[in-house]
Amino acid sequence: MTTLLMDPAPLVRAHDAGALAPRAEFPLLAADPALVYLDSAATAQKPRAVLDAMRAYYETANANPHRGAYRLSAAATEAYAAARARVARFCGLADADCLVFVRGTTEAMNLAAGSWGRAHVGPGDEVVVTAMDHHAAFVTWQQLARERGAAFRIAELTADGRVDEDHFASLLSERTRVVAFPHVSNALGTVNPVARLAGLARERSGGRALVVCDGAQGVPHMAVGFDALAAAGVDLYAFSGHKVGGPMGVGALLGRRAVLEAMPPWQFGGDMISRVGDEETTWNALPHKFEAGTPNVGDAVGLAAAVEWLDALGADRVLAHERALAARALDALGALPGLTLYGPGAESRSGVVSFSVEGVHPHDLATILDERGVCIRAGHHCAQPLMRRLGVPATARASFWAYTTPEDVDALVDGVRAAQRLFGVGG
Ligand code: PMP
Repeated sequence: MTTLLMDPAPLVRAHDAGALAPRAEFPLLAADPALVYLDSAATAQKPRAVLDAMRAYYETANANPHRGAYRLSAAATEAYAAARARVARFCGLADADCLVFVRGTTEAMNLAAGSWGRAHVGPGDEVVVTAMDHHAAFVTWQQLARERGAAFRIAELTADGRVDEDHFASLLSERTRVVAFPHVSNALGTVNPVARLAGLARERSGGRALVVCDGAQGVPHMAVGFDALAAAGVDLYAFSGHKVGGPMGVGALLGRRAVLEAMPPWQFGGDMISRVGDEETTWNALPHKFEAGTPNVGDAVGLAAAVEWLDALGADRVLAHERALAARALDALGALPGLTLYGPGAESRSGVVSFSVEGVHPHDLATILDERGVCIRAGHHCAQPLMRRLGVPATARASFWAYTTPEDVDALVDGVRAAQRLFGVGG
């Protein structure tokens, strides 16, 4: 550590040169000009517009929606419906009733498996995931397969970290009942060809498989266009609000109407019922059938504000911005001795750069970077099956978003060099 103290990073940020969104719009970043936040794939910082919208909701419209006959409750009901409509529009989903608010991607996957999976998967069936799936999808479908006596198949990856489409296709047949894959890998940054994979799954399964796309790393970085993906074969698409600049605790499951209508409820309680008899109960219409209990209105309002903000910024511009930063990071890190970079070239990835530094454990690297104000993630990134295939227990991961600047990337690279000096590695 002495070396570091004698060699501090010259990190006083005077401006936002090269950011897509000004740092000043993010109170947490604005409060600490020296902070280099490179963990946006884990959670994004929140624009002021989100915090303002949530405060305004709680200060002017907070009540339990759906249940009250008074105006304040009607205001809360309207705020919730407006949030749903706004998020659906952002996602390219015309039928807003086909957007179910959930806690996040993890809950969406559990909903899909607990409802569709339990109702439709049985012995002799097959469930297909990929080796790059996040545990939220991988473990959920693995356990569903075990519980239902179905076979669990894993599509392998190419050496540069893409889904091996030949292997993926070879796993699909009329026995396939579920196919799950991520839009973008959180550990590698690989952007998958969603429409092509979904089309293959639909075709090879004869339309019998549920095609589920984990969009946790998709929605924050590009315009998704759910209806077009649904036409190509995607049945369900899930994401988390907190990675889009919204609050933690809210996300969405988007689905094709026919699929959602055929799914039984997965949680019971208030709001999700139509009529409750002594022996039998009937279910409310979409989306309420899947939203038992008091909904998370405040966070839904925050998520709507986040997508409004992202729309104004230009969701389509985010990926290009991140790719330019990824290219800069891959070039600079790739030039250092003893660096292993994982995943495809910048043109096929989002703003995620995963790497290992020979002789420096990822956790040590993250600690050293933290001393310089640089936040990265070290670990298995909830992708242990992928780590096994890479042959490492963990990687270091830097991830970018709209506020990230080339200067941030340079701070990362400087920090990696400093860590190598400290450990006496890298020549
Ligand atoms: N899938 C992917 C690809 C993710 O990156 C994450 C978050 N790391 C999740 C699922 C789970 O999201 P959450 O923890 O918000 O439910």
